[in-house]
Amino acid sequence: MTILVTGGAGYIGSHTCIELVKAGYDIVVADNFVNSCMEAVVRTRKLCGVDFPFEEIDLCDYAATDALFDKYHIDAIIHFAGLKAVGESTRIPIEYYKNNLDSALSLLAAMKKHDVKNFIFSSSATVYGADAPVPYNEATPVSRSASSPYGNTKLMIEYILKDTVKAIPGFNAVLLRYFNPVGAHESGEIGEDPTGIPNNLMPYVAKVAVGKLDMVHIFGNDYPTPDGTCLRDYIHVVDLAKGHVAALKKIQQNCGLFVCNLGTGKGTSVLEMVKAFSKSCGHELPYEFAPRREGDLPAFWADPAFARDELGWVAEKGIQEMCDDVWHWQSKNPNGYK
Ligand code: NAD
Ligand code: UDP
Repeated sequence: MTILVTGGAGYIGSHTCIELVKAGYDIVVADNFVNSCMEAVVRTRKLCGVDFPFEEIDLCDYAATDALFDKYHIDAIIHFAGLKAVGESTRIPIEYYKNNLDSALSLLAAMKKHDVKNFIFSSSATVYGADAPVPYNEATPVSRSASSPYGNTKLMIEYILKDTVKAIPGFNAVLLRYFNPVGAHESGEIGEDPTGIPNNLMPYVAKVAVGKLDMVHIFGNDYPTPDGTCLRDYIHVVDLAKGHVAALKKIQQNCGLFVCNLGTGKGTSVLEMVKAFSKSCGHELPYEFAPRREGDLPAFWADPAFARDELGWVAEKGIQEMCDDVWHWQSKNPNGYK
């Protein structure tokens, strides 16, 4: 079975390629390097032990996407490709809507033409919105509008896929709602490599640990949580990658529309993350409390029961292992892939 991994040079995609090859799937990777580089593909191939085919294309380009389906016999798509920076999406919403929607639509059109009917989509917990009860459960209706243009692209693509399942007999769409992916491959060879100053907590903390940034700014310490800092459901990227292998097994059973959280079910505070990372890198990380960041929710985590029952998938790695693996990656590659 051949899987087209879009965005496979990126953070989650590269880790997923390894788990897919381990599980015996053939893969074809497509990426335009808008937020990644060839070195990630080179290293992922090495870790896979397979020189899988790679195509540098922009998936918004329908002709190029269609040509991909002419060139390879593809059985299923895992669609990671997309722009993902929440803050940036509020500054350049048109670019976000264009890239994320066009790439999904171009893929779906090519799939329709080539009669390919299995689509796994990287969605996000952000679709539940600010008012959903915690823990987030798949039965909770999605929000009418997410808190950012980025989140809205996820909501819109979810709707497009729901309508596609209704319209095309035999079409299967798995919507995977990720919580907070962190960690890196145990080899330290691949990991998260954001350009510029990281927006997300974990890569920021890692840059402080390696001396590239001065200190961690903890956004808010007056939230209604045990230590006053926000709680999130951090999930190791390798566990997340394995969740995609479980989703592929589900899709092979002709699941139709299948919506599933990928999280651990545990909330961890920002302060707890900083302390765990200090233990991993062997020195206390300097931090200061800063004002709340606009749009942040105090606390949310997944109800992971549905994934356990329906996919037979459970996240196994804990916070310390996540921090240890990020530290391994960051200390081995202080400049990321550069
Ligand atoms: P990433 O930026 O590392 O990977 C995305 C990849 O897609 C990049 O390699 C980029 O170059 C590629 N890409 C983007 N637009 C493209 C296009 N038009 N054509 C071809 N390639 C294109 O991001 P990631 O963290 O690996 O996230 C993967 C997916 O998971 C994204 O869709 C993201 O929105 C979603 N997601 C991520 C998180 C997270 O916190 N990392 C959380 C929830 C959902
Ligand atoms: N955070 C922080 N300092 C940072 C980056 C993030 O205190 O430099 C906090 C942020 O306020 C949130 C948590 O860490 O409570 C996780 O943020 P991240 O951006 O990683 O993920 P989000 O849950 O916002 O998608």
